[in-house]
Amino acid sequence: MPIELSPEVRQFCEALRRFLEHEVEPRSRWIEEHDTIPDELMQMARDLGLFGITIPEEYGGAGFDLAGKCAIEEELGKSNYGFASVIANHTGIATTGIVALGSAGQKRQYLPRMATGELIGCFALTEPQAGSDPAAMRTTAVKQGDRYVLDGEKIYITNAGIADVFTVMAVTDKAKGTKGISAFIVERGFPGLKVGRNELKMGMHGVSTAPVVLERCEVPVENRLGEEGMGYIQAMKTLTWGRVTIAARCVGMMDKLIARSAAYMKTRAQGGRRIAEYQGLQWMLADMAVARDASRLLVERALEIFARGERGTLEASVAKLFTTEALGKVADSAVQIHGGMGYMREAGIETMYRDSRITRIYEGTSEIQRNIIARELLKDG
Ligand SMILES: Cc1cc2nc3c(=O)[nH]c(=O)nc-3n(C[C@H](O)[C@H](O)[C@H](O)COP(=O)(O)OP(=O)(O)OC[C@H]3O[C@@H](n4cnc5c(N)ncnc54)[C@H](O)[C@@H]3O)c2cc1C
Repeated sequence: MPIELSPEVRQFCEALRRFLEHEVEPRSRWIEEHDTIPDELMQMARDLGLFGITIPEEYGGAGFDLAGKCAIEEELGKSNYGFASVIANHTGIATTGIVALGSAGQKRQYLPRMATGELIGCFALTEPQAGSDPAAMRTTAVKQGDRYVLDGEKIYITNAGIADVFTVMAVTDKAKGTKGISAFIVERGFPGLKVGRNELKMGMHGVSTAPVVLERCEVPVENRLGEEGMGYIQAMKTLTWGRVTIAARCVGMMDKLIARSAAYMKTRAQGGRRIAEYQGLQWMLADMAVARDASRLLVERALEIFARGERGTLEASVAKLFTTEALGKVADSAVQIHGGMGYMREAGIETMYRDSRITRIYEGTSEIQRNIIARELLKDG
């Protein structure tokens, strides 16, 4: 059964579609080449309300649920991936923890300005020795009077270069394992927080990915999110929801690749006929559509499970695994259908091919999704 979207979400998606077409697309090549989002585009995104889509209405956001967020992600997937990543990260993993665990005071302090995009957020879990196994993190938070002192290093943090508010996971009690990991809201201006240089990446140009160093970084006790030891549990929930939103973005990317490929097949002629007449390419296009449609159904299934209040761990991982791997194949076929043009920057297909690769790595690699799925299937009871 297709997910019912509220009139507000449908209206927002229409406005977003126009915005992506008229404002983002014309700047896409510039973003790709300069590896940053132009200030005027960030401001237009603020004016549209994009930064507040998932923040509750009482804090100035639109308060869209996960289905609404996925509908928006699908639209974002059809445009510039760097721009999509800035928004998706801020409205996803960077704010989910504060919305879910934040005290009334924390929410009042941060969410209204995060909803307008005045403050940009990021989510800092990964460390040099703790990627697929985040529980191996070494960043510590030691309570000293009315503050915690954080020491450690986070890497590959999306939006870190432009972020004002960092949700940082750190060990407060090593003996308790994952139940000894807590989450903190760390402001860019807190002494001891340093953001390193932006990484140069294969794709995702336009969004900053950078290391974050915490050196005797002092964080007031009131900036701890939830109780001590709740950080890891919330981070895992945040990532589970995030997996479905990434899958939705991949569906949008597949949509665009299919539309672009079909259009090219109808205009490009070789051997005295349009390449659309070659069955080899027709079958490629058909497989691309099947992969996209199956992906969309898996996203919808996961959303239904969440809407029923169930955990959705298995369904979210199935959706992410299948959809991101399907996107890899669809992007490869799109390059093939475009022939030499698919390899050229001017067509933008190679950009999507490179952009698509990250989806099988972050927020849990394909191997980790398989581990989660198998674990859920083998669970007793
Ligand atoms: C562009 C980008 C943006 C990112 N943004 C963020 C962010 O905003 N915040 C954040 O906290 N992190 C972020 N990350 C980190 C990302 O989530 C990790 O890179 C990812 O989880 C993989 O960790 P790793 O890179 O250490 O790889 P590793 O964990 O070292 O994995 C190496 C290989 O081993 C495999 N492997 C590892 N463990 C197992 C296992 N148990 N079973 C089977 N295979 C296994 C992996 O699948 C992979 O193939 C980002 C990463 C990138 C590249």
